[in-house]
Amino acid sequence: MPESAPLHNWAGNIGFSPARFEAPATLDEARAVVAGAGRLRVLGSGHSFNTIAASDDVMLSLAGMEPFAELDILKGTVRAAGWLTYAALSAAVHRAGFALHNMASLPHISVAGSIATGTHGSGDRNGNLGSAVAAVEFIGPDGELRTVRRGEEDFAGSVVHLGALGVVHSVTLDLLSAFEMRQYVYDGLGLDAVLAHFDELTGAAYSTSLFTPWGADPEFQFWVKQRTADQTHPFPPSNRYGAPLADGPRHPVPGVDPQACTVQQGQTGPWHERLPHFKPEFTPSSGDELQSEYLIDRADATAALEALAGIGERIAPVLRICEVRTMAADGLWLSPAYGRDTVGLHFTWIGDHGAVAPVTAVLEAALEPFAPRPHWGKLFSIPMNEVRSRYPRMDDFVQLRARVDPEEKFVNAFSAPIFAAPES
Ligand SMILES: Cc1cc2nc3c(=O)[nH]c(=O)nc-3n(C[C@H](O)[C@H](O)[C@H](O)COP(=O)(O)OP(=O)(O)OC[C@H]3O[C@@H](n4cnc5c(N)ncnc54)[C@H](O)[C@@H]3O)c2cc1C
Repeated sequence: MPESAPLHNWAGNIGFSPARFEAPATLDEARAVVAGAGRLRVLGSGHSFNTIAASDDVMLSLAGMEPFAELDILKGTVRAAGWLTYAALSAAVHRAGFALHNMASLPHISVAGSIATGTHGSGDRNGNLGSAVAAVEFIGPDGELRTVRRGEEDFAGSVVHLGALGVVHSVTLDLLSAFEMRQYVYDGLGLDAVLAHFDELTGAAYSTSLFTPWGADPEFQFWVKQRTADQTHPFPPSNRYGAPLADGPRHPVPGVDPQACTVQQGQTGPWHERLPHFKPEFTPSSGDELQSEYLIDRADATAALEALAGIGERIAPVLRICEVRTMAADGLWLSPAYGRDTVGLHFTWIGDHGAVAPVTAVLEAALEPFAPRPHWGKLFSIPMNEVRSRYPRMDDFVQLRARVDPEEKFVNAFSAPIFAAPES
């Protein structure tokens, strides 16, 4: 194994011990590695919190290959190397006068790895990152290249694929024209206001987030990311439902220096420097942490928040911060937002799995009435057969996977129970 091989994920809670770690320098080398491997998984930027990227046989990193981002100005698309980070891609796209429709909280993650797990940002009308995909180019199990394009039969199953359909060489994404944004934070929004005005709050701007540490009497930070073109008034309201505009920059995690965060307080800037919460040159979030996230039907949002408030004192001691975001429904079979406008209930925990696990069990029990779909790249203990049942097109995906990879080269211990035949 090369000395530079990453032996653990970003959070450090998952160690990787593959039989071989391969880091090819060219596409031809990558194709040969894939063709010759018994079982193989790609490691993207390693930001998942579970074993979704792990393999006990071959792990492959494409990060040493020459990156590319090819614009098609006539179609308004970019064909990007799967291993590019969103930081690199968004800067290149912006320089050319274009924009991505949305970004996750951090730009450090790889394009292919993010899309594979259904990674999302926020915004009532913004689909998750995969909703911008127009085509995916895979290296198949035999090392041959195969492109699946929007409109083709397998497309809706091939975008959010959990790494199980091959090695993504490139992803083609739809672009918007570049736009400018302003970001504001409000402090101290009460739970009653959130419950009474949830739709007004999340609909108040292009992208919004609510952050709370829960506890006995929870208060929320309300982050508002507006496109300047949508701003009808020169100034934002100085107060929303009793919560004043913050008097300085904020970090979502209490006590952490806000210098890691994108610029707030209404200063105009390009979309890719406002949509993520964190700047690419800093450690995102807190660094010493675990994460879980549960995606529920938007119609259940306020009932689920009330359920969380009921266990607020139980979760607060091991919680760094909870974030509530929204996303538009999509038609991607394994997307957590498949078929329903969705609310994401995200939890950044302290980095102590022993202390966190009993609390996530309480949390999952509280959310059970809402049949949440757990984020594929984060920690959860909902049984896989339950998770399966929450995806109406799961059987179609299982058949697609078996057709594309009959020898199960891209199946690993994490994904095998998802693709196993249901127990009768
Ligand atoms: C601090 C932090 C903040 C986060 N914020 C958000 C957020 O705002 N929204 C959100 O939804 N998620 C968020 N996440 C979760 C993160 O977006 C996902 O875990 C995402 O999958 C990470 O991408 P990655 O490139 O690191 O993928 P990895 O973790 O490396 O891999 C994820 C999966 O993709 C597969 N894969 C990777 N590259 C390829 C490829 N080229 N071809 C085929 N398969 C591939 C892997 O095999 C694996 O199955 C956050 C994570 C962290 C650590």
